[in-house]
Amino acid sequence: MPEMTESEIFDQFAQIVARSLRINGSQITPDAQLSDLGAESLDLIEISMETESQFHIFLPDKSILETAVEVFGPNVLEKEGYLTEEGKQLLLRRMPDADAEAFQGAVSVKDLQHYFLKVNTWVRMIQGLVRYTPAECAACDGPMAPSMGFRMKCTRCGAEITLRSGEELNREWVREYYDREYRAQAGVTVSVTAG
Ligand SMILES: [Zn+2]
Repeated sequence: MPEMTESEIFDQFAQIVARSLRINGSQITPDAQLSDLGAESLDLIEISMETESQFHIFLPDKSILETAVEVFGPNVLEKEGYLTEEGKQLLLRRMPDADAEAFQGAVSVKDLQHYFLKVNTWVRMIQGLVRYTPAECAACDGPMAPSMGFRMKCTRCGAEITLRSGEELNREWVREYYDREYRAQAGVTVSVTAG
């Protein structure tokens, strides 16, 4: 895709949501939550599928926190249903533009679901993924068009690529964060204590 701005993505996404929920587009603001707009689980599935086909992306099934918990193991990022400091740090690192107030004080994992259902959270997630969808063929610079499944095909030479999945990209990000930032920080703390 040619680089899309956040507001272009917002406009397109708002149209998808308005159509799926049969509501007026003017009700959809960046801070609105899909559940407050009336989206139930089947609507979310429809919105996800429409989003994938319109933006040519492959959305993750799990939230970034769920994927991170799989990498970090239990009781590191969340404990007894609440985010730990490490959990908040990871989410803030991942969503630097996020409203930092959303992560102040006790944040339950359940409350976080509301955050993940915010229109703006989706817009940023889409923006992060469209970067991995090529507009031009790597072999001949011809225009790419959607093909079967999560594939894109060059309309000139026929070369095909498989889109990276959001799940896979999330997991890569978490692993890198774990190695470069989380473990590095833990190392600093240890040496300070030892000194
Ligand atoms: Zn080509």
